[in-house]
Amino acid sequence: MPDQSRVAGGVLDGLMQPRPLTIAHVLERAERLFAHKDVVTAGGERLTYGEVAGQVRRLATALDALGVPAGARVATFASNNRRHLELYLGVPATKRVLHSINIRLSAEHLEYIVGHAEDDVVFVDRGLLPRIWPSAGRLPGVRHWVVLPDGTDTPIPADPRISDYDELIAAAEPFTGSFEDTFTLADENLASGLCYTSGTTGPPKGVLYSHRSTVLHCLGTLAAGLIGLCESDVVLPIVPMFHANAWGLPYGAVMAGASLVLPGASAEPAHLLRLMAAERVTVAGAVPTVWTSLAPQLRDHDLSATRFLLGGGSAVPPALSETYRAAIGVPITHSWGMTEVSPVGVIGGTRTQHRDATAAEQVAVRAAQGQPLPLVNVRIADVETGAELPRDGQAVGELQVAGPWVAGGYFKVGEAGSFTGDGWLRTGDLATIDADGYLRLVDRMKDLIKSGGEWISSVELEAAIASHPDVVEVAVVARPDPRWMERPVAYVALREGRATTADELLGHITPMVAKWWLPDEFVFMATLPKTGTGKLSKLALRDSARTA
Ligand code: ADP
Repeated sequence: MPDQSRVAGGVLDGLMQPRPLTIAHVLERAERLFAHKDVVTAGGERLTYGEVAGQVRRLATALDALGVPAGARVATFASNNRRHLELYLGVPATKRVLHSINIRLSAEHLEYIVGHAEDDVVFVDRGLLPRIWPSAGRLPGVRHWVVLPDGTDTPIPADPRISDYDELIAAAEPFTGSFEDTFTLADENLASGLCYTSGTTGPPKGVLYSHRSTVLHCLGTLAAGLIGLCESDVVLPIVPMFHANAWGLPYGAVMAGASLVLPGASAEPAHLLRLMAAERVTVAGAVPTVWTSLAPQLRDHDLSATRFLLGGGSAVPPALSETYRAAIGVPITHSWGMTEVSPVGVIGGTRTQHRDATAAEQVAVRAAQGQPLPLVNVRIADVETGAELPRDGQAVGELQVAGPWVAGGYFKVGEAGSFTGDGWLRTGDLATIDADGYLRLVDRMKDLIKSGGEWISSVELEAAIASHPDVVEVAVVARPDPRWMERPVAYVALREGRATTADELLGHITPMVAKWWLPDEFVFMATLPKTGTGKLSKLALRDSARTA
């Protein structure tokens, strides 16, 4: 081989192979190495990665037969199930773009997103047809609707655009070549996936992931000492596959060769816990509201295989994490992320330096969102001036992120306001960073309460209230106030059968927070409203606080 070194201006190129990073590789690696490993969908369906890969090979030619071109957006409207995984793999492996849609969107948002993405095909769980089919007439760009059998017998409308997934796959010849070999180095930057942000502040925005960003994110989350997914893991993404790539857990499991357990359409606590026990799940990820719903029944199931529980999407109250640690010996590890960050940017937990810390100190460390993943840079900046603030654990500023799996723009819209002049993403979160690089989220900028010119962190106030043993869910929001501008109001759901009063809760939190932080009112509800991704909906509560 001739020496191809380029020496210019004193720099020297390395001589390693310029191979692309692709999801096709992730798929074919699992096919070669882990063909015998399980993909279980709740309800008793059990396939191997080998069988899933076989399905993907047929899906590839089925998409060709439907005339879906490279680069076309292929939407999924589906729960976490095996067919959805096949689409996760097969759509990008064939250079199409997987657009996973939140199944809880309003018809208005749904139609906006499908139109904006210009989805060519929609793959939809049979049981979910009634949620999306009424919009079909307003989605003329969708040429094909493919129904994913899911065990339900939901009626299927008679329409020539509708076909059945299993029939399409059965009729297709398998692609026998190498998906990976169809990619050149430049192709690693091809779009592989598309997710829209929730659009709580303006229309939803599309985040367009690439093969390269997805593979690097996958490796980042797999890193030992972080989630550390490995072949012996049994991974349960409770977080929906339409919520920011289920935090990378499906691709991570496939890359690591871990078994995958997919919970299907039910998020019922007993169902999830039975699945965890029966499949000996080692790693699971969910938003705090789901962990809250599972907490009362933890001791009724054998969860002894569990080694890592991931919580993100909103702050995990320390009391909740401690409930898990006491019951099953595993706390909930914080992960901070957002759709724009693929989504994982930061992972919590203690490090060697905390070994000798007191139990209370360790709880405090675990309450932090944690340290950035390799290749991710975080900083905080003054909201007014944009000047970077010190990493002293005290200064509070807007969190900004940069890295190879962080969005650099939004699909088909200019959004200069979301990025700094030097290309960092402005997250809209307020945080501190300490000298060890631990990030603590103070609040979302829009959730912070401004009272008499001073800020009150809704997150901290919620953590204090949630530490009362009778509190199941709590959200603190601002109510407009003529004197103070805004005052905090706490919405609380109590454990069944409890009648804890506002005065008791005030007494509980008084030693923990400044006097002027104490909520003006406690509003008790049976359960608090949730967003489409299962987080507590502060938007809905703010509206009700405003009009109360
Ligand atoms: P949305 O909630 O708007 O649908 P995302 O799911 O992308 O969109 O949420 C991103 C936001 O969720 C972050 O900006 C942050 O405010 C919040 N978040 C995510 N993870 C955590 C965490 N571990 N702790 C606190 N807040 C978090």
